[in-house]
Amino acid sequence: MSIEQLARANVRTLTPYQSARRLGGKGDVWLNANEFFQAPEFQLTAQTLNRYPECQPPVVIERYAAYAGVKPEQVLVSRGADEGIELLIRAFCEPGQDAVLYCPPTYGMYGVSAETLGVERRTVPSTANWQLDLPAIAENLSRVKLIYVCSPNNPTGNVLDADDLRKLLALAAGKALVVVDEAYIEFNPGSTVAGWLADYPHLVVLRTLSKAFALAGLRCGFTLANEPVIALLLKVIAPYPLSTPVADIAAQALDDAGIDTMRERVAEIAENRAWLMAALAPLPCVEQVFDSASNYVLVRFAAASNVFKTLWDQGIILRDQNKQPGLSGCLRITIGSRGECQQVVAALRALSGINE
Ligand SMILES: *Cc1c(COP(=O)(O)O)cnc(C)c1O
Repeated sequence: MSIEQLARANVRTLTPYQSARRLGGKGDVWLNANEFFQAPEFQLTAQTLNRYPECQPPVVIERYAAYAGVKPEQVLVSRGADEGIELLIRAFCEPGQDAVLYCPPTYGMYGVSAETLGVERRTVPSTANWQLDLPAIAENLSRVKLIYVCSPNNPTGNVLDADDLRKLLALAAGKALVVVDEAYIEFNPGSTVAGWLADYPHLVVLRTLSKAFALAGLRCGFTLANEPVIALLLKVIAPYPLSTPVADIAAQALDDAGIDTMRERVAEIAENRAWLMAALAPLPCVEQVFDSASNYVLVRFAAASNVFKTLWDQGIILRDQNKQPGLSGCLRITIGSRGECQQVVAALRALSGINE
């Protein structure tokens, strides 16, 4: 048997997640992974690298709980929110039997993690304005153990209706967990459902330090849920999911000064987003600029592949969303520094034949 034939059938046919890093590109304006444009600086304080780290470093857990307004027992820390997505499937879904449900267009890792673990992917497209199609979800819940929804949603940038989320939780009660991915919640903090944990034993909230905290390279994320859910996830998590330096830096990012800095960053991004959206709207190559509650904006172009390629060749790397259901002609642009936003607009004006 070839090595290829020895692999599990679903792994042989698996299309891995097309991460921004994997897609490559040569540029100096990276607007394809919703990263912050500037690296925060930290000093390592923990020097005990001869020892294994704690599985759930208490300072990180306590600070995140205080920040999120939940109890420390309701917090699990992991190697990014992506690990949280996978741990939930490993703890709750029987391969070849159970299913996860999600609503495209949305984040790609729900499907990739399910496929990797041999768990059925059930998709229910969102409505025309990217809200939950509750009747269709209700009809498709057989064998579903996890429902992933994303708010603000990547890549569309919209927030899900709070009443719809309550209705979804009612539909799923006793059958499935509802996982609300709040990777971008700092850009729209009023819409968090973390405060609902007391009301719903089957609610799970995903968070990350990768976006508003500007720490994508740290690989640190959080799962918020009630204790019975957290206890199950702790059974399947790796013994040492965070290295000592990661826990050290995460604790610093979550102290009072770290949270203040994060909020300043969010305000700067909101200003740049407003500037970019206003500058994009009148351009002839732009068909539609969608509202955004996050650190990126989705834009429909008249000739998206040409726009993507032209900017790519100039070292301005955007994210092509054209293949997602309902997003033909759409590119996602991360909100960078004001200078980066200006470079995008200048490149698009040149492409439209507008002289500066
Ligand atoms: C970026 C992102 C994540 C992944 O976060 P990490 O903590 O970097 O793994 C999860 N969900 C959504 C919607 C994201 O955009």
